[in-house]
Amino acid sequence: MPDAAVETRSSEATSGGATQQVDVAVVGAGFAGLYALHRLRKAGLSVVVLDEAEDVGGTWYWNRYPGARCDIQTVDYGYAFDPALESAWQWSEKYATQPEILRYLGFVADRYDLRRDIRFRTRVKAAAWDEAAQRWQLATDNGPRVSCRYYVMATGCLSAPKPPEIDGVRDFKGEVYFTGRWPHHEVNLTGKRVAVIGTGSSGIQAIPIIAEQAAHLTVFQRTANFALPAHNGPAPADRIALLEGDRAGYREQARWSLAGVPWPQQTTVSWQLSDAERRERFEKAWAAGDLIYTLSQLWADLGNDVDGNTLVADLIREKIRSIVTDPKTAATLAPFDHPFGAKRPCLDTNYYATYNRSNVTLVNLREEPIKAITASGIATDRRTIDLDVIVFATGFDAMTGAVTAVHPITGRGGKEISAVWANGPQTYLGLTVAGFPNLFLITGPGSPSVLSNMAVSIEQHVDWVVDRLVALREAGFTTIEATETAQAGWSRHLADCSMLTLHRLANTWYTGANVPGKPWGVMPYAGGVGPYRAICSEVVSRGMLGFRLSAPDAPEQCNDGEIVRLQPDVRLVLNMLADMKLPAIESLGAEGARAFLTMVNAGRPAGRPVGEIVDGTLTGTNGPLPYRLYRPATQGPHPIVVYFHGGGWVLGDEQSDDPFCRDMCRRSGMIIVSVGYRHAPEHRFPTAAEDGYAATRWIAEHAAELGGTPGPVLVAGWSAGGNIAAVTCQLARDRGGPRVGGQLLVCPVTDSTFDRPSYSENAEGYFLTRALMYWFWDIYCSPADRTDPRAAPLRGKLEGLPPAFVLTCEFDPLRDEGVAYAEALRAAGVPVEQLEARGHFHASFTMVDVVVTGVSGRARMAEALRRFAGLPQDTGQLRPDRNPLPPEASAAAE
Ligand code: NAP
Repeated sequence: MPDAAVETRSSEATSGGATQQVDVAVVGAGFAGLYALHRLRKAGLSVVVLDEAEDVGGTWYWNRYPGARCDIQTVDYGYAFDPALESAWQWSEKYATQPEILRYLGFVADRYDLRRDIRFRTRVKAAAWDEAAQRWQLATDNGPRVSCRYYVMATGCLSAPKPPEIDGVRDFKGEVYFTGRWPHHEVNLTGKRVAVIGTGSSGIQAIPIIAEQAAHLTVFQRTANFALPAHNGPAPADRIALLEGDRAGYREQARWSLAGVPWPQQTTVSWQLSDAERRERFEKAWAAGDLIYTLSQLWADLGNDVDGNTLVADLIREKIRSIVTDPKTAATLAPFDHPFGAKRPCLDTNYYATYNRSNVTLVNLREEPIKAITASGIATDRRTIDLDVIVFATGFDAMTGAVTAVHPITGRGGKEISAVWANGPQTYLGLTVAGFPNLFLITGPGSPSVLSNMAVSIEQHVDWVVDRLVALREAGFTTIEATETAQAGWSRHLADCSMLTLHRLANTWYTGANVPGKPWGVMPYAGGVGPYRAICSEVVSRGMLGFRLSAPDAPEQCNDGEIVRLQPDVRLVLNMLADMKLPAIESLGAEGARAFLTMVNAGRPAGRPVGEIVDGTLTGTNGPLPYRLYRPATQGPHPIVVYFHGGGWVLGDEQSDDPFCRDMCRRSGMIIVSVGYRHAPEHRFPTAAEDGYAATRWIAEHAAELGGTPGPVLVAGWSAGGNIAAVTCQLARDRGGPRVGGQLLVCPVTDSTFDRPSYSENAEGYFLTRALMYWFWDIYCSPADRTDPRAAPLRGKLEGLPPAFVLTCEFDPLRDEGVAYAEALRAAGVPVEQLEARGHFHASFTMVDVVVTGVSGRARMAEALRRFAGLPQDTGQLRPDRNPLPPEASAAAE
């Protein structure tokens, strides 16, 4: 029975009457369980590992289908905790086969004498938290029960095979195999008519080998997947040299990298490269045969931008067409419905070429779905295919299934983990679950896990858990449990991280989309291995933030809170700035600060192309002012947005917010004219305000010459530029024009007092400091003038102003005055759209292509501009960098 093949993996045996008492019970004797046992034992804790398999190996014990091998280079895919172990083992290939990896894990088990504490052929049937004893009580199907203080699930992420979900499986009279539960005996497919259902990593590895054995192979493909050639062979000399040159350094670099493999972070973006340069990079990657290299080293926007991604996806599709001789088959094999890397890409050996064999047929289930499996084969709605063997390569109930499908786990108050996770997994750090004291998940949902080199992530998790247990023992605590606050904060952070990548745009097991009825959500942590490691360390250094520690005879310790409140990329930017130990801007003097800004701007990613950029001069009140005009690539005329840059009325020029202006131009489809208004201290208040007004008037009067549509102009500005934009609207209303159709105020300065809470909450540490704002004000405007509405528009009359979009950032001293302005505008009857951006800082939305989580906010700004100008909403055709987001993802930045 196929279902039985999935569900019944070991014989039932009765539990003995005795109970095995240990400090720690670990489920799973794979990579994670073996290392956990080794470390726990060394820490002086008594341990039992339980595994239903007959030997060690975990995923490598079960997944023994033909062609199974790892797809991370073996130089990177192994334990790194013991250099002596590394020298004692030599991998024979670049990508080791399943039997070799299994031998390696057996070798590790022998070397550290691990088997004596492993109970094989033993399945845990139930685990329950015993409140009275403050211990976990485990029922097993073989041998004594287990009572343990700590319970560690080292069950991997892909250990619960997914049922086939196809009618009639039980009726089939031939042989049925699951790649994830391949038999241990020889499977002879020679001369047989074989079907493989599924073209994920397992299917793609198995298909070429099965094709060589079978009389005929029929592959049933629902979704075409991206596969790259492995070019297997000996491990590449350059990687080996790098490793052997400095083994400790190499391993350490992996630990702090994004994916757990030591490749540098790519900073070149796709639009900085010519077609030929991109092709050259791609061909190099194709020849290298390395998934992580290809995903991380081509260009920086491959993983987070649809268009940067399409460039590589097109090149892969071209390769498929060049390999597969039948054009219809090639077209069917070419993935079309998801970005490259959004679904787990595969590494193959002769996969596409296999379809050139005469004994291989591809069935496209999108065109002819399976109606049923019958006694003799598979019936689609077009034909019946007679078969001797069906191989299901249909995947796993990933991540959560590896915990909930194993056995019922019952925590405090009788709550079962599957009920607690009914709407999606809830964890703190992917390691622990509120309400389940002393339970640890190794590489659980919410940790980098499957988006990383598992070997690196497993060691990090096990080390963290064992170090915590040792620390608990030393401090006299016996129980540790995540708080609800910390867990909820981690869920928000996870959702924020999911905005960094394109996984949300695919139906993939990363999101649970492969299992009917499973709640949707990006389950692994997408913020990177290194940043995650830093967060885990920070939890400890901040007094076990988000954990409740207790013992029967000791006072409870609970330092509650959220570990990350910033957006993940904002956190990286701020950490990087902190590491640079830059001088305070206000200590540099105006000239020094301007030079500093020029230097910072020179290091940022180049802005994206627009239709045309024109530098020009307009006439201000006291002479010429420079401007830079950004014109969309679409046919004009276009509405005009007059833009005022940030810089505290002291710094910057018409070019200094260049990437933001380009972005607004591309997204809104409008002309952006960035004005070079004059700065303090050379020109103090009210020069900037008056220049802003005069420039707007001039631009409105010269709209046709600039290629603009007749009618009102819009104004926009960031920070002090937001102040100028707001003031311009008031002056235009009071001075009889020009007509302003709308105002976009991004983190604007609206008032001259410093007593709102955001000024003290965010006084330091978020780039724009309170001290810097004091300095800007002092240079720009004397205290006596600060109540003038041209300096503090919040103090002006607000009735009759154009509609506004006001964006404020949570970690910005200017947050509350921006909110106050939006509220005051609304009270004055002005239509206002407000975006209070959670986890963002003052520069989040102007750091285009650096703060990726700002994309949805900028999309909303552009929509607001189009609305102000009376244009239809953007359908995605206007901007080549459109980034379609599911609604839940768009909301995440707010
Ligand atoms: P998978 O990636 O989830 O692929 C399952 C395949 O089965 C997909 O093509 C899926 O189509 C198809 N499928 C599922 N249910 C189906 C149904 N009812 N009817 C028709 N088709 C159906 O699973 P996997 O290949 O076992 O790989 C899972 C993960 O394991 C990999 O992504 C990888 O992380 C890991 N893995 C690693 C290696 C390695 O080299 N180290 C090898 C194998 C697996 P849809 O795409 O339409 O859902």
